[in-house]
Amino acid sequence: MSDQLFPKGEPAAPDWFTGAAFVNMLFPDSSGLLDCQVYDVVFEPGARNKWHSHPGGQILLVTDGVGYYQEKGQPSKRLIKGDIVPIPPNVTHWHGAAPDNSFTHIGISPNTSKGAAAWFDEVNDEQYSQATGEAAIILTAGNWQL
Ligand code: MN
Repeated sequence: MSDQLFPKGEPAAPDWFTGAAFVNMLFPDSSGLLDCQVYDVVFEPGARNKWHSHPGGQILLVTDGVGYYQEKGQPSKRLIKGDIVPIPPNVTHWHGAAPDNSFTHIGISPNTSKGAAAWFDEVNDEQYSQATGEAAIILTAGNWQL
């Protein structure tokens, strides 16, 4: 049962994703007034972004489905509606859907004037199946200690 909060956006840039994902820019902050962008991302089952990092950090607010978040060299974390993921600046990570579930999060990118995300290799099928098969920690809203 989908509980989509915002309309599904445009197909995400294929250079940055594996599988189908959609981005709705909720607050592009075109004027730079708040130095912060807000957007909604929908991942179809199996879809995920490539390894990447954000110079200004990122916050994910999970609104629907089941997904995963993983920092390089760390166990993945399984995410459900209500989970909050603060991502420190310049930490390499990926986020995306479970193999058998779609996944939706709001993304907040503060400090956008520090520059665009840096994009690296794709999360290959072996990394993805390992991450989604042995996720160790189930987050609940607010329990993440940064
Ligand atoms: Mn990210």
